[in-house]
Amino acid sequence: MPDSSSSVMPLPDNGNKYDLNFARWVYKNVNGGDKLSMCMQCGMCSGSCPIGTEMDHGPRKLFMMIRAGMKDAVLSSNTMYNCTSCYRCVVRCPRGVPVTYILQDLGRVAVQAGYAEAKKTDNARFAKAFNWSTRAFGRTDERLFTLKYYLSFGIVTAIKKAMANMPIALGLLKTKRMHFGAPHRIKGTKDLRAILDKARAIEKSKQGF
Ligand code: SF4
Ligand code: SF4
Repeated sequence: MPDSSSSVMPLPDNGNKYDLNFARWVYKNVNGGDKLSMCMQCGMCSGSCPIGTEMDHGPRKLFMMIRAGMKDAVLSSNTMYNCTSCYRCVVRCPRGVPVTYILQDLGRVAVQAGYAEAKKTDNARFAKAFNWSTRAFGRTDERLFTLKYYLSFGIVTAIKKAMANMPIALGLLKTKRMHFGAPHRIKGTKDLRAILDKARAIEKSKQGF
């Protein structure tokens, strides 16, 4: 794991398609990146991934691209956002590579470096709505959280999505898995917000770009 006490080097940018400085940067600054050299390209991770067909590149290929220094191709990939963090790859990797951690942290790097088009990426919209609900109520309120996510696409798409999912909503109401009325809040939402703000400030202070 990277040494969080050391200063973070800026993300290299020499304009080349292949830049080995990017590989070195990932080894040093991405969570789990120091284990990338253990990868023997066996493909167990990609072969085990339940969502691999939805990724631009499976983890094995992405790791090879990192080694080749393909910064733009790696950071503009959707692989990190489509990973569901099921950890199947981690459990099966014969070399102990923390695949999930690496993907999660690469996603953060891509967002911070402006590659992720956070406003357009579906998973980013979802994460934003989740974050909003967590800050507001200390938990996910299925109705408002989903509404917030749908509205991020614009009102027309939101109505279409809501109509398409109406049978599911009715089923949840019928089985008392969703309630009417005011959202449930945890105790101490203010304290939780303070924790989240602190975590964000720490994260920001560690940014290398
Ligand atoms: S399973 Fe592990 S060693 Fe094999 S390609 Fe994936 S990360 Fe590399
Ligand atoms: S943790 Fe992510 S990359 Fe690994 S198997 Fe699960 S979905 Fe695929």
